[in-house]
Amino acid sequence: MQNNFQKTIAKPVNFEGIGLHTGQQSKICIYPGKVNEGIIFKRTDLKENNLIKANFQNVSSAKLCTTLENKNGVKVSTVEHLLAAFYICGIDNVLVEINSEEVPIMDGSAKEFLKILRNTEITTLSEKRKYLKISKKFELVDGRRKISIEPNNNSLEVDFQLDYENKLIGKQKNVVDFQKDDLKDVSVSRTFCLFEDIERIKKAGLAKGGSLDNAIVVKENKILNDGGLRNQKEFVNHKILDLAGDFLLSGYRVIGRIKCVQGGHELTNMFLRELFKDNSILSSIENSSHIISKKNAIKPSVKIAVNA
Ligand SMILES: [Zn+2]
Repeated sequence: MQNNFQKTIAKPVNFEGIGLHTGQQSKICIYPGKVNEGIIFKRTDLKENNLIKANFQNVSSAKLCTTLENKNGVKVSTVEHLLAAFYICGIDNVLVEINSEEVPIMDGSAKEFLKILRNTEITTLSEKRKYLKISKKFELVDGRRKISIEPNNNSLEVDFQLDYENKLIGKQKNVVDFQKDDLKDVSVSRTFCLFEDIERIKKAGLAKGGSLDNAIVVKENKILNDGGLRNQKEFVNHKILDLAGDFLLSGYRVIGRIKCVQGGHELTNMFLRELFKDNSILSSIENSSHIISKKNAIKPSVKIAVNA
């Protein structure tokens, strides 16, 4: 647990880009955050009720992307890659002003966000970072999909497995330690979709801003993007990136070993909700023991169709 004080950026940073699903151009300005505030989004296109806290309890939809919504129904979507960049950079508190409903997709990975954040000065704040240390295995099984967390000494390790019928994607597995490993491949890995799914997604009014500039498109045994993949395990690495972003919504840096099979935003959110269900557990973590323990839990099957 190195660098265990909370961090923020020293000065505001700006960027803009197109939203993957809305197709709208949006501007973002990230401001330094205050101690213990976490990540807060502010919709500057709205005058009232425009603050949305980045927390798993505010996730209103996790199909195709992670959408946060406050109690007044104000939303911000596709937050996961920006959150993953905050996780990787060690940023705990920031105010993210955005003038639309969707965070720009940039190149479909966390590469651009990290470039911006790494070019700015990072400030260490006066309070310690909140860690969530797992002391017992906790598991959520949903048909073929499963996710579990078990104790690990002092870092977050993610073991992710994909199994696609598409032969090019096929079975991919990677294990990444967020403390010890070089996270470059994970950081630059892009979101992906199958060519045959594009029409259906577009018909649903989604992916209006999607293009080969911000997503890998797989058609049978071909990658349609010029230059192909950025790394051999780009598909599973992107899922690991998504998972890091979605886990930051727990409000903690997690110390544990996560194993995920066929997961995605929705399964991760279901998992966090189960993990934190018991209020007595929540308060005991807040009060500084930083330890959570719970018996194995098995959930009945819930039907979904996700890829993000
Ligand atoms: Zn993603």
